[in-house]
Amino acid sequence: MKKRIVILGSTGSIGTQTIDVIASNPDKFELYGITAHSNSELLISQAKKYKPNFVIVTKDECYPIVKEALSGEDIKVFAGIESVCDLVSMPSVDIVVTAMVGYAGLKPTISAVKAGKTIALANKETLVVAGELIKELALKHRAPILPVDSEHSAIFQCLAGEANNPIEKIILTASGGPFRTHNIEQLQFVTKADALKHPNWEMGAKITIDSASMMNKGFEVIEAKWLFDLNMDQIDVLVHPQSIVHSMVQFKDGSVKAQLGMPDMRLPIAYALSYPNRLNNDYERLDFLKFNQLNFEKPDIKKFRNLDFAFQAMKTGGNMPCILNAANEIAVYGFLNDKISFLGMSDLIEWAMENAEFISKPTYEDYVETDSMVRKITSEKIGI
Ligand code: NDP
Ligand code: MG
Repeated sequence: MKKRIVILGSTGSIGTQTIDVIASNPDKFELYGITAHSNSELLISQAKKYKPNFVIVTKDECYPIVKEALSGEDIKVFAGIESVCDLVSMPSVDIVVTAMVGYAGLKPTISAVKAGKTIALANKETLVVAGELIKELALKHRAPILPVDSEHSAIFQCLAGEANNPIEKIILTASGGPFRTHNIEQLQFVTKADALKHPNWEMGAKITIDSASMMNKGFEVIEAKWLFDLNMDQIDVLVHPQSIVHSMVQFKDGSVKAQLGMPDMRLPIAYALSYPNRLNNDYERLDFLKFNQLNFEKPDIKKFRNLDFAFQAMKTGGNMPCILNAANEIAVYGFLNDKISFLGMSDLIEWAMENAEFISKPTYEDYVETDSMVRKITSEKIGI
């Protein structure tokens, strides 16, 4: 039986690479549905080429264009986030790949979890914002959450066959981004063009900025806590500029397992789709002689304060990680639109964490309210 897959965010970096994996394994997977927000052109061309059963565009203005373009095809076309929630809940769907960016992923992910679907999770913001709730729902509805993020996939792969062996700690690796060797003075003047040049990975704009500011690693720490049931003191971060060791697990006998490979997101995507099996492919192989030095450094949290904020938010709990995420989404938007500087992003996040209303035991409605309130106050603060 082929696995029927829905990709939320098919037009993005993870979305297009997921289509690539599916298209290379037509005997194993069927592309059942695709969704995007505003890139009608790419969504339409994906729909025409791969002929999924469902296509959904979440930006209302794009609906007539997509509907019209696909009118001659045997494809159902819908608009809006509620349609996405309905699609992921359909009995015929096996796997939902959450490859849309940001807080927008929360609602459809909850729907998919409630429907007991296997989640191939790329959208880490969902676990940052509402990890506790998602975890609880996933247990209740027996929805497996399989990581797509390369670090978490590495840990997941290291844990295969280790069910009875508790983790002592995990070590998340970080490339350090384009500003790894910059000092604070230099960081004051970096531009968005500088920040958008990631040394090792080709990704969407938001995560590329998050990587440059190390907020991405902070988010991944929180993501790891929920995925692998860890305490804060069980999660270490090491800068590893080559991005070859994707992360490590240390067991209670002191043994450390690592997963290595070329930086290619199709690998963790394929593992999440085909777990527990591995798929054959002809992607570039790791040549140890080409990478004959693998380096590790301590991250500098004085320079990259966002990483520290993420640890603080995780420690505080409640809606603090949701505040962190919302402030960061506005900060990144502000930076990409020349409203604040690179370091100004951390100032805005710190301000939001100090000023937004704290809720120690948030409900889903509290997360929604926190997200919109923090967006409002941070947007006002930077004049957008
Ligand atoms: P991209 O920016 O490349 O793609 C984002 C996708 O989300 C697009 O399909 C976009 O549609 C859609 N989208 C944007 N806004 C909304 C919205 N409001 N509602 C619904 N859909 C929306 O991002 P990436 O693929 O790089 O990242 C996606 C997620 O995966 C992020 O959470 C990121 O952190 C995570 N991730 C990414 C990695 C990578 O290598 N890229 C690695 C690990 C995790 P449209 O194009 O139509 O605007
Ligand atoms: Mg990652």
